[in-house]
Amino acid sequence: MEIALSEEQEAIRDGVQKVCDQFGDDYWSQKEQDKEFPFEFHKAMADGGWLGITMPEELGGANLGVAEAAVMMHTVSRSAGGYSAASTIHLNIFGPHAVVVNGTPEQKERMLKPLIEGTDRACFGVTEPDAGLDTTSIRTFATKVEGGYRVTGRKIWTSSGQVANKIILLTRTTPKDQCKRPTDGMTLFYTDLDHSQIEVKRIPKMGRNAVDSNATFIDDYFIPDADRIGEEGKGFHYILHSLNPERILVGIEAVGLGQGALDRAVRYAGERSVFGRLIGQNQGIQHPLAENWMYLESAYWMLMRAAYLYDAGKSCAAEANAGKFLGGRAAFEAATRAVMTHGGMGYSTEYQVERLFRESILLRIAPITEQMICNFIGEKVLGLPRSY
Ligand SMILES: Cc1cc2nc3c(=O)[nH]c(=O)nc-3n(C[C@H](O)[C@H](O)[C@H](O)COP(=O)(O)OP(=O)(O)OC[C@H]3O[C@@H](n4cnc5c(N)ncnc54)[C@H](O)[C@@H]3O)c2cc1C
Repeated sequence: MEIALSEEQEAIRDGVQKVCDQFGDDYWSQKEQDKEFPFEFHKAMADGGWLGITMPEELGGANLGVAEAAVMMHTVSRSAGGYSAASTIHLNIFGPHAVVVNGTPEQKERMLKPLIEGTDRACFGVTEPDAGLDTTSIRTFATKVEGGYRVTGRKIWTSSGQVANKIILLTRTTPKDQCKRPTDGMTLFYTDLDHSQIEVKRIPKMGRNAVDSNATFIDDYFIPDADRIGEEGKGFHYILHSLNPERILVGIEAVGLGQGALDRAVRYAGERSVFGRLIGQNQGIQHPLAENWMYLESAYWMLMRAAYLYDAGKSCAAEANAGKFLGGRAAFEAATRAVMTHGGMGYSTEYQVERLFRESILLRIAPITEQMICNFIGEKVLGLPRSY
């Protein structure tokens, strides 16, 4: 049994690193301060051919697995851009999965090619003000009309909605109380986000400000039949297929962010002298950093195992969820410790660790919270009664 990256995976890491190296602290600091989408980074990744890493080859993708995507996203978030950099592109990797699996050949050509080329940007409209984790309670409703659907509803937290021209939209086409199972009666669309008809209102937030998140107001918006993915009523089941890859990628992005923060803390601890000695010589500084390294490393390999299982077509839900939990927690601990290691300078923007710290909290909340992961492990892995 060999547990190591393959030569191809190492080449992916090195290739992605080269792109990331062009965008340093100043670039990302400025984007965060200006709350401006990193178009240049997005374009550089598209030009490098990285946006189609998991997409079909005939459309210009590389047709590689989630393990390779994980190597790429880990490298991106370990770079100066942290989770902002990862968020700029990660929807490309798992978001259109439903189109890859359930789209018609015409839809794949029309929808995926521009995403791979970087000319389209998509956002993900699932969460609603009154239905966060309880996805089957969404109320955005698509009513069938001649040639398509008329959609009305509210989404919240739609990330990158300000700069996206496409939206992956989950709707109800049958009210929940009329369905046999709560997961039935939901329909998925991949369609234009027409800013002249849909109001996308930015939500002021704590961090990851280069990538906006929004409240999205949809009123009687027409979506043609051609933009419906798969069968009517099966949307939730299509989304389910992309949940494990999403958890794996977000988890490994968390690990990358945590390792980036740890790298900075170690550098500072090896340079800063107080009381005539390097602060890194003190066990009170050194040991927590050693702990961060261990937790991050264990989360990394849990996630790579989840990716391996997914690519091998085996069940990976326990590992993907656990890896997401461990990655988020380890990232938060490492980023917090990085701020503390810098003392007062940790609080200044100059050393970047406060930016990573603010981003790291998000990784414990979205796309799934720690509590819901514990619910999943308690019920599905340990076999305890469902608690909610
Ligand atoms: C910056 C940011 C970006 C986002 N981007 C997107 C996006 O692009 N697209 C999108 O669709 N969504 C997005 N989200 C939404 C995100 O996925 C949700 O915020 C997340 O799933 C949590 O849902 P909620 O906020 O509605 O929490 P709620 O469902 O309101 O839960 C609140 C709290 O109660 C806990 N809780 C609830 N029920 C239980 C239970 N039964 N047992 C134990 N604990 C429970 C939760 O764990 C949580 O801590 C984003 C969120 C943020 C903050």
